[in-house]
Amino acid sequence: MSQRTFSIIKPDAVRKGHTAAILAKIQEAGFKVVAIKRMSISKAQAEGFYYVHAERPFFPELTEFMSSGPIFPMVLEKENAIADLRKLMGATNPAQAEEGTIRKEFAASIGENAIHGSDAEETAAFEIGYFFAGIELK
Ligand code: GDP
Repeated sequence: MSQRTFSIIKPDAVRKGHTAAILAKIQEAGFKVVAIKRMSISKAQAEGFYYVHAERPFFPELTEFMSSGPIFPMVLEKENAIADLRKLMGATNPAQAEEGTIRKEFAASIGENAIHGSDAEETAAFEIGYFFAGIELK
């Protein structure tokens, strides 16, 4: 059964001009792009998105980074979308990411790591709703 997940092309990748190459990889892997937009978010909006990480030492750095420039939030669909996108993204730290993954190819560091992907069904539902209205998701 097809499943939806939520992803963000992060500010580092947008700044370096990797958006199209990352999207191509995602589409080649069989994902349908259900919704996508370019936008910038405030630090407070980034804090709301990453609230589960609020107690982590890297929270200020993470939310500063995510509000540092334009991003492309998107909703992706395919069978097993959540797990398959996580596999395609690669490890959080690009130094540990496998060959062929998006982070191996495009990420610079554990913080500036090119792409976000939901890690579970409940988080996907929250994250999709944080960025998109139902009317945008037909
Ligand atoms: P993900 O699910 O692979 O994105 O990783 P996590 O959920 O563990 O962390 C969320 C995001 O926080 C990561 O994608 C990074 O952008 C950032 N992050 C995680 N660990 C660190 C860290 O040690 N330092 C910094 N600066 N950012 C981090």
